[in-house]
Amino acid sequence: MSAEQFDVIVVGAGMGGMCTAALLAAQERKRVLILEKAGQLGGRATSFVGAELATWDDYRRPLGDAARTRLHRTLPDSESFVRERLLDGYVFEAGIHGIFPWGRIGHVLNAVGRPVALAPNDAAAWYRDGRFHRVRRGEPLPWMSERDMRESKSLVREMLRTSARQAEDCDHVPFKEWIEARTDSEKAVEFHRVMGGINLTLTDLAKMSTGDNIRINRQCILAGYHMSAGGTGTIGEPGYRLVFQRLAEAVCQAGGAVRTGHRVREIVVRDGRVRGVVATGPAGDYEAQSSAVISNVPIQNTFSLLPESLFPAAWVEKVKRFWSAGGLCVNFGLRRPLTREASYVPTLLRAADAGTDSDLFYVYWPTSAWAPTRAPLGEQLVEGYVPLTEVETRSKAILDRVCDAILAFMRTTYPTFDHDLRWAVFPVTNFLCGVAPAPHQVGEDKPEVKSPYIEGLYFSGDTVRGWGCAADAAVHAALLCAAAVGAYDYMQVVPEFMR
Ligand SMILES: Cc1cc2nc3c(=O)[nH]c(=O)nc-3n(C[C@H](O)[C@H](O)[C@H](O)COP(=O)(O)OP(=O)(O)OC[C@H]3O[C@@H](n4cnc5c(N)ncnc54)[C@H](O)[C@@H]3O)c2cc1C
Repeated sequence: MSAEQFDVIVVGAGMGGMCTAALLAAQERKRVLILEKAGQLGGRATSFVGAELATWDDYRRPLGDAARTRLHRTLPDSESFVRERLLDGYVFEAGIHGIFPWGRIGHVLNAVGRPVALAPNDAAAWYRDGRFHRVRRGEPLPWMSERDMRESKSLVREMLRTSARQAEDCDHVPFKEWIEARTDSEKAVEFHRVMGGINLTLTDLAKMSTGDNIRINRQCILAGYHMSAGGTGTIGEPGYRLVFQRLAEAVCQAGGAVRTGHRVREIVVRDGRVRGVVATGPAGDYEAQSSAVISNVPIQNTFSLLPESLFPAAWVEKVKRFWSAGGLCVNFGLRRPLTREASYVPTLLRAADAGTDSDLFYVYWPTSAWAPTRAPLGEQLVEGYVPLTEVETRSKAILDRVCDAILAFMRTTYPTFDHDLRWAVFPVTNFLCGVAPAPHQVGEDKPEVKSPYIEGLYFSGDTVRGWGCAADAAVHAALLCAAAVGAYDYMQVVPEFMR
């Protein structure tokens, strides 16, 4: 039987690969084949509808396979979840997923003619000194003195004055260095540390890239959003998964195909040119041919598909050393709303409580207050997140202490928390590579989307060229990748300040 032919083959149905594929299909009518090894689309941004989970493995497996995330702790035990159908009516993400209404994904969905309603937050509160402080657009932050506020604002103004190009000069400058050269106000530094925590999913100022932090802050402000209104958001039922369904529709409408449960074993290269892939599907091995293959597999895993000998040794070394951050997520199912306000709440957990070297950034939000279809009527889904180092995510003792610190915080802050808590899961990932931009791993230090070494080989996803907040960086890479493969400058899909 002759091998199938496609204009483009994409390996991996993550955000980067799916956006690239949908753009090429919708704008240029390219026939694209997407092959995904996991049983569902979305990669690290996959999501779950509780009522569909017949067994615990229906949740645990895709969480590990696609999202590279495992469960550290559950309350109650996993058998009770299944027996009591605790997740029915809840729709939740692999870990968590704050979507950015100000980000690039909305523009891509519009460009492929398949918009998705993104539900924004409409309030924010900062938990500090044992109480909540409302954050309101245009108003001073209530816990800051006039001087702290002036210092803080002047840093924001400087970021806004810096163009995206100028920010490249600061790519490799640790944010700690940048901010300490400009202010000695502890509260201004703390504010920007928390904002950096949201943007870069890192707690440590020294590990944050100044360039990426500046570009992301500008992007949010210039798009007209504020932490208290649309600074983050979510998607109603069926969760983030809807984005991938819509992108897949665009691919299929142009004559392409999207296959889950199909693992690519090899990208075939002959005489320095890509020829196609060899994949294993439910019916066995097969070959698909194309002169353009996009690997959406995180870049350090490239050599599971292609021999290292095809690339220069320095490139192989660089890619293998690709750095990863980690994080502990929380999903709480509550019998009654924890909060009626659709607030986004950042705070810091004390190092002494968490057992870590420095204080930890913790942010949580009532997802179903923004998107009511995410929890049963009258109940509430709360999601939250603590960025950790990769090493911390490997320590059971530290993870236990961080879980305990989160629970202690929730109990102290919400006296009826224990009574209201129906269930909790604490997923942990050590695979936030590309999500957490550190000074040594941004800008031109990220590999290019078009391989200079193999003709017809391209890369997409958050581990290659492109900047932005987490999944938004994967979309940026997708725009660059689609432009490299196709005939259009796909950067035109997004406003100038997002390019
Ligand atoms: C727990 C967690 C929470 C997160 N929270 C947020 C958040 O709140 N906001 C946000 O913006 N981002 C968040 N992120 C990051 C976001 O999910 C990623 O930046 C984004 O999904 C990365 O997309 P990608 O396309 O680069 O890669 P991936 O999603 O990793 O896609 C790679 C795909 O390739 C597939 N694959 C690998 N090998 C093969 C093979 N041989 N054959 C076929 N398929 C293969 C994988 O299964 C996967 O589907 C979070 C990530 C995690 C893990």
